[in-house]
Amino acid sequence: MECKHGSSTGDYSPPCFLCKVEELEGQLTIMTEARDKYALDIVRWNADLDDLRRQLATMTQERDKFERSAKVLMVEKGNACIAWEQERNKLAASQAYSQQLREALEKLARLGNEPLLGNSIGNRIAQEALALPQDDTALRQWGAKLLKEIERGADSAYKIMCRVSRKVDELEGKK
Ligand SMILES: [Zn+2]
Repeated sequence: MECKHGSSTGDYSPPCFLCKVEELEGQLTIMTEARDKYALDIVRWNADLDDLRRQLATMTQERDKFERSAKVLMVEKGNACIAWEQERNKLAASQAYSQQLREALEKLARLGNEPLLGNSIGNRIAQEALALPQDDTALRQWGAKLLKEIERGADSAYKIMCRVSRKVDELEGKK
């Protein structure tokens, strides 16, 4: 048997130099193609990596923005709660003041004829004052104002949650 270069390919023949060169050239071609393909892959991977880095940067910005908004909302929530407390305290103080006035009038209405109602001019003035309908206009106006505020502040879920929970407390009589 002979190779295409005319060298013997028998078991005891030395290998053909030209065949060996062709074999090595073939391997070189395969390895060069593999290297080129690998180089293209690296270019693609780098592009993918850049893309991921950009996505990460965008997401980091979004996260930071969200955290800042969350902080702003927390401050708004705190402010809304403080405003609520102030309104409620004003109303409570007003109611306490009204109650003190009524207690004083009750004493004046009986003054000199305790424990029954008296007939003096002073007694009657106090009785007439007590007979006036108890004015809850301020309370109703306050409730209406609150509802309007809730409608206006509908963009802030925190404010609504805060106010509604306070309103529930108010209605349940928790002070
Ligand atoms: Zn050969």
